[in-house]
Amino acid sequence: MDAASMGADLERILYTEEQIRGRLDELAAEIATAYAGQPLVLVGVLKGAVMVMADLMRALPMSVPVDWMAVSSYGSGTKSSGVVRILKDLDTDITGTHVLIVEDIVDSGLTLSWIRANLESRSPLSVEICALLRKPAAAKVAIDVKWVGFDIPNEFVVGYGLDYDEAYRGLRQVGTLAAHVYT
Ligand code: 5GP
Repeated sequence: MDAASMGADLERILYTEEQIRGRLDELAAEIATAYAGQPLVLVGVLKGAVMVMADLMRALPMSVPVDWMAVSSYGSGTKSSGVVRILKDLDTDITGTHVLIVEDIVDSGLTLSWIRANLESRSPLSVEICALLRKPAAAKVAIDVKWVGFDIPNEFVVGYGLDYDEAYRGLRQVGTLAAHVYT
């Protein structure tokens, strides 16, 4: 869906499709260089990372296996709970391979630091993170995100895979939600 279809529910667009695609192309080039000739698996975190994964994997110049995890995060609110539960685990064994976690957004960092520690316990060669968005002002734990698309203000955003109560994931852009939607 396009921004126009959201009407008054959209406050403003932060990033257009072109800006997102352009930034992911840059990140893909860096990632390709970093892992050249080495075993790598991309691990997407459902459901929000679907769009980032789809664009990132197509931007990579090499074939890389993809796997998915699903963990509980926000529920229907807009605040991170810090409570993480695996809803769907990886299908593959990551022992002896590099792992790149692909995420939509790093907010408090609680979810990702938990996922990273969990994956590190499975004896991979390394675990790094690529996230399209990061909110530095919302960080509750220090987490090293090696590849970041954009640092954004501490506001609730939707689109490009990010939802509010399962709505707006299909928005082509990333935008902020008008306050009347969730107040
Ligand atoms: P964290 O644990 O870093 O606080 O955030 C975990 C998850 O919360 C993210 O993967 C994402 O699904 C969700 N989240 C965090 N910030 C936002 C936001 O601004 N908008 C939306 N739609 N989801 C968010």
